Amino acid sequence: MAVENNGNGVQIEVPKTCKAGVVVDEGPNFRVEVEDVPVPEPGPNDVLIRMNATGICYSDIHYMLMDLPLPPMSHFGVRSPGHEGAGVVVKLGSNVTNWKVGDRAGIKPAYDACFNCELCWTGKETHCDESPQIGLQFPGSYQQYILSPARYTQRIPDGVDDFTAGPIMCSGSTIYASIKESGLKPGDWAVFPGAGGGVGHMGVQLAKAMGMRVVGIDGGDEKKELCMKLGCDAFVDFTKVKDVAEEVVKITDGKGAHGVFVTATSASAYASAPMMTRIGGKVLCVGLPPAGTAVAGADPLLFVGKNLHIIGTKVGTLLDTQRALEFAARGLLKPIYEVFPLAKLPDAVEKLRSGKVAGRLVVDFNS
Ligand SMILES: [Zn+2]
Ligand SMILES: [Zn+2]
Repeated sequence: MAVENNGNGVQIEVPKTCKAGVVVDEGPNFRVEVEDVPVPEPGPNDVLIRMNATGICYSDIHYMLMDLPLPPMSHFGVRSPGHEGAGVVVKLGSNVTNWKVGDRAGIKPAYDACFNCELCWTGKETHCDESPQIGLQFPGSYQQYILSPARYTQRIPDGVDDFTAGPIMCSGSTIYASIKESGLKPGDWAVFPGAGGGVGHMGVQLAKAMGMRVVGIDGGDEKKELCMKLGCDAFVDFTKVKDVAEEVVKITDGKGAHGVFVTATSASAYASAPMMTRIGGKVLCVGLPPAGTAVAGADPLLFVGKNLHIIGTKVGTLLDTQRALEFAARGLLKPIYEVFPLAKLPDAVEKLRSGKVAGRLVVDFNS
């Protein structure tokens, strides 16, 4: 006789099919449609999660455009992108003992890790060889019911609702990880090219909460208003200022920034970042430009003369994500988002693709 493993005796009815945003015509002319797809069955070590909310991340668009040096989603038989979701566990695999049906759970970009290699042992598990990407190699959070390995599923703390938790799973934890890696200290100048975007606007808040002085760089009055509201000490509008780097140096005591977190994805953002740093300053590469379109770096003379550091940081680990969620639980990190109903998921993707989004777009699976 089959024995249901529900952890606590709670049963949540699981339908046979569910709604999913799926990619059609992968490549430069892709579009997203909402379809009915089968609800997957958890393997022995998985949990099945019902998404309540998913954020829309520009990486999803990269995967659908196929402009990163990665095999396409279709190579893995995946049709739904999405890697920043929040919901509730509705079914447990037979071996799962540390989750209960009804527990709140989040989906972040890294699907799993081996926990048996040097990278996993040193807090770099997102670089592990066995750390695939959800929404690329496994169906992602545009699908309402998805699987996640129990050991790598994120718990969502009390006081953080699903619309807040979703975007923190990728953007918030990614920029938390980058700020942590930068080693910047309270009082240091942190500069965010792309400060009004999904990742940048959370970086501004976290850096402020950590006691740094923050300069936002972005284009347009809407982004400026958002950045100043979130606590930027200064804002540089690249559509209005002739030399952005010069302006940043002027603001940062005439010496330049201690850290420049490039959350923008343009070649110009990457090209100007080293020019904004002070001696010993750091450029953190966070935003993903389409392959071959940008270079992070500078003339070696600048590296030597400025003791320049250029560092790439990836998405957040389990711990980074936990920490970022804790900032939210304490009211220090509040993603700014616009909610779209599920039927309008394709419109949300199009809007982000146009580049005109201040903050984050989040899809509500229950409306
Ligand atoms: Zn993302
Ligand atoms: Zn590993």
